[in-house]
Amino acid sequence: MPTLADIVGELESIYDPAWAESWDAVGLVCGDPAAEVRRILFAVDPTAVVVNEAVEWGADLIVTHHPLYLRGTTSVAATTFKGRLIHTLIKNDVALFTAHTNADVADPGVSDALARAVGLTGPLTPLLPSADDPRRGLGRVGSLPAPLTLREFARQAAQGLPGTAGGLRVAGDLDREVRRVAVSGGAGDSLLGRARAAGVDAFLTADLRHHPASEFVEEPGGPALIDAAHWATEWPWLADAAHRLTSASAARGITVETRVSETVTDAWMTTAECEELK
Ligand SMILES: [Zn+2]
Repeated sequence: MPTLADIVGELESIYDPAWAESWDAVGLVCGDPAAEVRRILFAVDPTAVVVNEAVEWGADLIVTHHPLYLRGTTSVAATTFKGRLIHTLIKNDVALFTAHTNADVADPGVSDALARAVGLTGPLTPLLPSADDPRRGLGRVGSLPAPLTLREFARQAAQGLPGTAGGLRVAGDLDREVRRVAVSGGAGDSLLGRARAAGVDAFLTADLRHHPASEFVEEPGGPALIDAAHWATEWPWLADAAHRLTSASAARGITVETRVSETVTDAWMTTAECEELK
């Protein structure tokens, strides 16, 4: 039976912590390196519902994309939701590990999985290559096998991504032709300029705010914008990460059982779920 230290070693060989941004907090959050690991749950967010799912399934480890503690803490008392999560994890012998910006820039990483989910085929290149390795970086640029209208591409993207209450939002001429596309899992505001410079027909990301988006589409010549739920743009990576861990482990004679959480941890509900808001 592999130990947590074995599995962390495999994960860090796939998603090197040295690739993470300086402000990030990746790696092991809690867990005993000597503990045995058999079942591993993959999820985007370390939320109570995900931790409960792990406990019910009998997971020994949760691998999440988002860190539980990004800015550090002086207390894990069960007086906050984060402290309560730590208590639940430790009481149930469940470890927690985070692969965040090191998974974003990996090759393949978060945006590769997103690009495939929305139908991009062929080679993918980073939208913003890493300084030390141009094969890695933020976002990906790729092509559709045949041109679609923006309307058709948005529909295809919506079908390829897991459903969320908010769905997709589109800014641009719905009849324009889309062939080359840039994508970035998670909040992609900072890559708007790169997407324009790349000369793509559409840029799909999450968490676009009113002013940057509205000013971007007012300026002619740039790509159309598609805004999806943050969680939905990162969820496709989970299956890829689970597969890479299983394969790397198997090559060393280690067998682990993985599961991708299908719990939607997007924070938003629609007005359809809140009748009184209509
Ligand atoms: Zn994210």
